[in-house]
Amino acid sequence: MAYDVIVLGSGPGGYPAAIRASQLGFKVAIIEKESLGGGCLNWGCIPTKALIKSAQVFEYINHSEDYGIKVQGAEVDFGGMVKRSRDVAAGMSKGIQFLLKKNRIDQLPRPKLQPKDLEYSR
Ligand SMILES: Cc1cc2nc3c(=O)[nH]c(=O)nc-3n(C[C@H](O)[C@H](O)[C@H](O)COP(=O)(O)OP(=O)(O)OC[C@H]3O[C@@H](n4cnc5c(N)ncnc54)[C@H](O)[C@@H]3O)c2cc1C
Repeated sequence: MAYDVIVLGSGPGGYPAAIRASQLGFKVAIIEKESLGGGCLNWGCIPTKALIKSAQVFEYINHSEDYGIKVQGAEVDFGGMVKRSRDVAAGMSKGIQFLLKKNRIDQLPRPKLQPKDLEYSR
């Protein structure tokens, strides 16, 4: 298979570039060595914000009487918080997979190639 554009890495830099190239009419593939969505979706922005949301909910519960609500015995379940964070990240990574497919972008396995193995043409 020949491609006009092959994007290495599917983080916030890679996947929008791949989508835009496809929208402009190029035949595009993307190669990701770990998880679709890169650092932002899988380890950085998204999972950390999911953890912050759990902390915020706990904070609300601890101050629920300020809102006229009585809650007793609220406890933090760190395992549950981390599971929610991982589930949110996994869901968004699946969303990237959907976007790539919708934009007709092939996801290729990481090739065991050296630069000398590639052919270029203009
Ligand atoms: C804890 C944390 C919290 C963050 N929170 C925020 C935030 O709230 N807001 C914000 O704007 N930014 C945040 N960031 C920064 C954000 O994650 C990065 O700016 C963003 O991920 C950079 O995108 P990128 O596409 O350049 O690189 P990356 O997201 O790192 O993506 C690069 C991708 O390329 C892949 N790759 C690398 N080499 C190869 C190869 N040879 N072949 C194939 N694939 C390869 C990697 O596996 C990776 O998936 C946070 C970062 C961290 C660590």
